[in-house]
Amino acid sequence: MAGIDIEGLSTVYPNGVRAVDGLDLSVADGEFFALLGPSGCGKTTLLRTIAGLENASAGKVRIDSTDVTRLEPGKRGVAMVFQDYALFPHMTVSENITYPLKVRRAPVAQRDEAARRTSEELSLQGLLERRPGQLSGGQQQRVALARAIASEGKVLLLDEPLSNLDARLRLEARTFLKKLQRDLGITTVFVTHDQAEALALADKIAVMQSGKLRQLGSPREVFARPANTFVANFIGSTPMNLLDGTIEPEGVRLPGGSLPAATGSLPVGASVTVGVRPEYLTVSPSGPGLQGVVVVTENLGTISLVTVDCDGTLIGATVPEEDEPAPGTPVSLMAAAPRVLLYDKESGELLA
Ligand code: ATP
Repeated sequence: MAGIDIEGLSTVYPNGVRAVDGLDLSVADGEFFALLGPSGCGKTTLLRTIAGLENASAGKVRIDSTDVTRLEPGKRGVAMVFQDYALFPHMTVSENITYPLKVRRAPVAQRDEAARRTSEELSLQGLLERRPGQLSGGQQQRVALARAIASEGKVLLLDEPLSNLDARLRLEARTFLKKLQRDLGITTVFVTHDQAEALALADKIAVMQSGKLRQLGSPREVFARPANTFVANFIGSTPMNLLDGTIEPEGVRLPGGSLPAATGSLPVGASVTVGVRPEYLTVSPSGPGLQGVVVVTENLGTISLVTVDCDGTLIGATVPEEDEPAPGTPVSLMAAAPRVLLYDKESGELLA
């Protein structure tokens, strides 16, 4: 087992695109680590640079404390699963799984044992003689995982592992993947553009934008305390409210009233961007906080998203489905001070 250390890493394509731009991060031994960000932010390039499939233009990649920056992919001790699985169509499942061992000239007995063990771990028994074309998408994905695991790499790299599965299978595969990773304890880095997937699976998440790291933290940290408005916007199924506010002695002035906030040393009267998640706003018929009128409600299953017009600004809050107020109802919105985040208006970075 092994950790990954990335130091000052940049990957520049021949056309001049700086896909990874001076990145530092560490993945701990045994960690399930997500690279998350919008399309084109450089996640796949970073994964491929760790694997050695792209050349680093600057910086270092260390795996298990060994500098692998200039090593070819086969010598890095990584196993990668590609988005399209890249199975060999003319080989059986068993041959696909043991292919990396065959390339390394491992004895037949060792290959057979690897096929038996991984097919058990990945519930592929009974499918070993089939060819990839005779398998469902979920089964193909498990074969690709089995092949990666059988190769006995020190780290597992997964590029959008669930993106080719339909919604229901995706949820099943998600649970399966999380359990497998936990059982094997193998250091795993996976790429996703789906924030819900990253929150559900990962021990730690790196949120990227334009080749740079914007936040590194646990799912709880990136959800509850986004380091900047970019992460605040990107994480969460219902978008965070980002509002223009003014610092007051005990909190912030916002459209429709005031909310408590830890203002630290910020001067009274300063302009800030205030971030508060809909999940952290409580809706009551009357009381302190922001005063407004319900405009629209959306049922999201067990909760409803209520959009409230506060002095011309629309603010979202979630309530249990059975407490959904009717449009036109006057309401008050309140949040606890630690849930009210203050961001620099220019840079978008978290202030207090
Ligand atoms: P997606 O989620 O869409 O796959 P991503 O975050 O994985 O996106 P990358 O595929 O790493 O992003 O791409 C990062 C940037 O590098 C993009 O601007 C992309 O156009 C560019 N890029 C990717 N591959 C190449 C390549 N082979 N040559 C030149 N530019 C590339």
